Parts: sequence; structure tokens; C-alpha cells
Amino acid sequence: MNDHRKLGRELGLFDTDPLIGAGLPYWLPDGAVVRHTLEEYIRTAEREAGYQHVYSPVLGKRELYEISGHWSHYSDDMFPPMELGREPDGEQAREQQDGGQQAREQVVLRPSLCPHHAVIYRSRTHSYRELPLRMAELGDMYRSELSGVLGGLTRVRAIHLNDAHIFCTLEQVADEAGAALEMIRRAYEALGLTPERYRLSLPGPGGKYVAAPELWERSTALLTEVLDRSGLPYEAADGEAAFYGPKIDVQVVDGAGRESTLSTVQIDFHQPGRFDLHYIGADGAKHRPVMVHRSIIGSVERAVAHLIEEHGGAFPAWLAPTQVVILPVSAAELPNAVALAGRCSRRGLRAEIAGPDRGSLGARIREARLVPYQAVIGAKESADDLVAVRLRDGRRLDPLPAEDALGRIGSLVDAHRTDLWDEPTG
Ligand SMILES: [Zn+2]
Repeated sequence: MNDHRKLGRELGLFDTDPLIGAGLPYWLPDGAVVRHTLEEYIRTAEREAGYQHVYSPVLGKRELYEISGHWSHYSDDMFPPMELGREPDGEQAREQQDGGQQAREQVVLRPSLCPHHAVIYRSRTHSYRELPLRMAELGDMYRSELSGVLGGLTRVRAIHLNDAHIFCTLEQVADEAGAALEMIRRAYEALGLTPERYRLSLPGPGGKYVAAPELWERSTALLTEVLDRSGLPYEAADGEAAFYGPKIDVQVVDGAGRESTLSTVQIDFHQPGRFDLHYIGADGAKHRPVMVHRSIIGSVERAVAHLIEEHGGAFPAWLAPTQVVILPVSAAELPNAVALAGRCSRRGLRAEIAGPDRGSLGARIREARLVPYQAVIGAKESADDLVAVRLRDGRRLDPLPAEDALGRIGSLVDAHRTDLWDEPTG
């Protein structure tokens, strides 16, 4: 099976260094292209679905997580707080006199983006006419994983999360959660991924969940309705809920057969109350919104790890670090190869020239076996402005005008298609 750690290093996508630390991978240029393209896909899909993007800081005061409930329910997974090393200012000194509390400020590396987004929502007055308000961010969060479980991109301490929170009325929850599930389905199609299973994650025994039986029942009923309406097969699992509510998890399996969650849709009645969120209803009174937490691809790290393993490094063309490799048969075709590379770049395609100095044509084709499109230019093609396109899967197309070839490759890439050519080839 494909191990993403081995492939990631061989293909120059990412690596780690003991001096930076375990669970803190860095991205090499080709990996950065994949990641950037994936993030752009997500941002575009979110914009089209009516989401608004925000940025929020990776740090927050300890108090923020005390209010959200992370401090009491999730602290095992959090890094220890940092005490800011300055003397108490006037206000804190007064507090110290009053109650002896928090002489120095403590800040925490955030374990999730939810509290920041709740505070951003609260910073403005909202009318019912603005709901559903969909707030999205691709942001960093941190998890204090033990060294023993860290590896590659699947278990990391610094996580770049594709996150969003939808603030809506109770009547809007099922539609919003259903639409999020549909975004996930479309993304998997574009990424060429198949979920292992959909899981309705419910609470289990133990004290890590907030106690509010009636709210748990209501959100479980809503998620069940969303799943039933979607027609997707799913299984319920106890002990897998978030501490604040049940969730729909989209499960994938890695090369070693280990299952993990990539995407998720959650319904939360807890944090809107904790942060005292409200909107002004048609009746002019204050009402409490519901929060839907959702992630289309989960963490960028885990998503890319899964993509590497699933495709063995042969990413869908729109994600591939190099989309077109240009292969001049001899040095005589080099000027045309350079010109074609320029046309690719103007068309928004990522192209690279592998010239005859890099070995025989056969050797260069083998070396470029993960590149979706291999454009061969011989003497005949060069004279007539043609290219002989070979597809990564071994298919060879008849020589066609360079402009046609680039136009067709470009439209497949723009449409995030996973098939390499759009008509049967001989
Ligand atoms: Zn959240």
C-alpha cells in the first residue's frame, strides 16, 4: 500500500526535521502547490455557497476556552497555557486586590476555531434577515498529541483546519447541515475520494460531554433527519460525539487500514448559550441562534495525506504539482517546447520542460509517470504547431493543434474533473 510519509518524501511534497519537532511537518514547493490549490478550491466552493471568510488569531485568552467549555472538557488535548511575562498592569493589579485572580494574563494556543467565530458573531448585532450567517476560515489550531502517535501528515500538532460555523435559526438547521453534506459529496467527487462510511457520532459513557439531555436529543434528531433525507447509508456510533454535541463524520481509511474522520457536520446548542449569542427576530425580540460546525475536507494535512495514499501520488490533474510535462524529442524542438510552456502558463496550467539532456524519451516519460499530461514534440509536431499528448494512464492521442490540446486540458482542469480526457480515445 502507499504510505504517504514515504511518498511525500520521495515526491518532494513535505518533510519533517527533528529540530523543528515531531508532528510539525513543513511543506516543500510541490506540496505547497497541492495545498494552495486545494485551499483555493475550498474557498471558491464556500464563496459560491454564500460563506463569508474571516481571519482570527491562533491565540486566545484562557478565559475564552473556559467559556467555550474546552478548558473543562478538552484540556487533555491542549498545550499548556503561556503566561505572559510582564508585571500586572493597573487593572490586573486591582483584580488581584479584589479577588487575587489572574495576576498575569494566560494565553492558549487554540484547540479549535469555534470560540473565535462565536466572538466575531457576537461583535455585531444580527437581524433574523441575515441568517443563516455562514462564517468560514482556513485557520491554524493546535493539538497536544503525544510524541508516540505522531507521524507524517495524519497526526500532527499544528493543524490547518478547513472550518466554518453557520449561525442560523432552529428551522434552518436541517437545510444548512444537508447543504454542507452535499458540499462534502461534491468535494469528494472532485478529489477522486470515496468515503469509507458516514457515521452518526453520538455521546458515550463518561464525563467529557456537556450535560443537557434535551439538547442532545434535539440535535441527534436533526442530524438523523439530515442523514435520512440525504439517502446516504450511515451507522450510529456511541462515544464519538464532540463534547458539545453529536455530529455526522465522514470516515476514510488509510493505507494501513486505520480509519479516521476527514469531514464533519455538527449541530451545537451549547456554545451559542455559553457565549450568549442572539439575533433580533421578526418580533423585535432577542432569540438564540444555533451553530452548525462543518468542515468539508477536515484538516488540510490529513486531507493531503489521504489524497497521496489514495492516488499513489497521481493527483487529479487540477491538483497535480506539474500538470503538463513538455518533452521535446531532440534539442532542435527546444525553442517550441519553451514557447509551449509559456502558452501553458498563460492558460493557467503548470508546465515543466524535460529536455533531451535528461535522458532518452522513454526514460523521461517514465520519470514523468505521475504527471497527467505528457506533451511530446518531435520534428513533425514542431513544424505544424502540434503536440502528441500521452496521458498518465498510458493512452496516446493523435497529434493535435497545440491550442486545442491546451484548451481541452484547461477546461478539464477548470471543471475539477478527475478523468484525464473527455472522449474515448483509440
Ligand atoms: Zn467549530
